[in-house]
Amino acid sequence: MTLVTPSPPAVAGLSAQAALHIATPLLVSLPLSERTGCEVSLKMEALQPSGSFKLRGVGLACQTRVAQGANRLVSSSGGNAGIAVAYAGRLLGVPVEVFVPQTTPARARELIAQQGARLTVHGASWQEANDLALAELRPTDAFIHPFDDPLLWEGHATLVDEVAQATPEPPDAVVLSVGGGGLLSGVLQGMHRHGWGHVPVVAAETQGADSLAQAVAARERVVLPAITSVATSLGARQVCEQAFAWTQRHPIHPVVVTDQQALDACGRFLRDHRVWVEPACGAALAALDAVPLLLPHARRMLVVVCGGVNVVNAG
Ligand SMILES: *Cc1c(COP(=O)(O)O)cnc(C)c1O
Repeated sequence: MTLVTPSPPAVAGLSAQAALHIATPLLVSLPLSERTGCEVSLKMEALQPSGSFKLRGVGLACQTRVAQGANRLVSSSGGNAGIAVAYAGRLLGVPVEVFVPQTTPARARELIAQQGARLTVHGASWQEANDLALAELRPTDAFIHPFDDPLLWEGHATLVDEVAQATPEPPDAVVLSVGGGGLLSGVLQGMHRHGWGHVPVVAAETQGADSLAQAVAARERVVLPAITSVATSLGARQVCEQAFAWTQRHPIHPVVVTDQQALDACGRFLRDHRVWVEPACGAALAALDAVPLLLPHARRMLVVVCGGVNVVNAG
């Protein structure tokens, strides 16, 4: 089967252009509400066309950079960010090159190639793939960072716009996963523009990918020696400065779960809601269990079901 690349839309200025992400459903989860004793709402980012929330920020970043004249999009993520860039490039009619290390699973490579992106496999780790991507960058290319870019945060913030529009009252807590902290930064940006500045955020990570929790404990950004969690989408060895800065000016509660707890939460979510999410998202679902003790007055919780196409041992 050949994939047809849609003809590029006229880039007449961003405001005239529709967003590349979709507005996702907001669902109340009876199983998770029963489990936690709170009303749990799910923002279903797993249903974005690229499989994760990444498309919100990546889509806006790609659109903006192309409108500014970029004629090629470059990513060094073999995960959900790379797939989102590939998807955005296909819709914008702009070539995409994704540089990934040899460790990138075959399925992830297929998903990127299926979007019509060029895939270059180089090096034993992400660092080497990223170095090559940067070395080969041309002046008219746009390099799309997976989490450290204000355009990304602005795009991610739109998920809060949708929730604020759908519900008059803010939730009592927002629960989400943290890798490099792009999602956290974007959601907080959205929360603050909707007057949710007092609503605590529960920031979920897995053991072995807990760069935010360790930074909060150390009161400065730390660099993890290695990522040892199966939740590879949370595997940023250091959170971005913006995410750490938010911990200084907003109530943020880091919660670290085990890989097994994240995987179990993925299994429960599949049974409860018939949607597969990857362990990076399972971390947020698992962290829900900690909220009643952590925030005993919270009655209504919003969970960002960030999604992800990374299917662990599931063929
Ligand atoms: C990227 C990603 C995260 C972490 O997002 P950051 O912006 O890096 O903090 C969490 N879950 C999934 C599914 C992701 O793709």
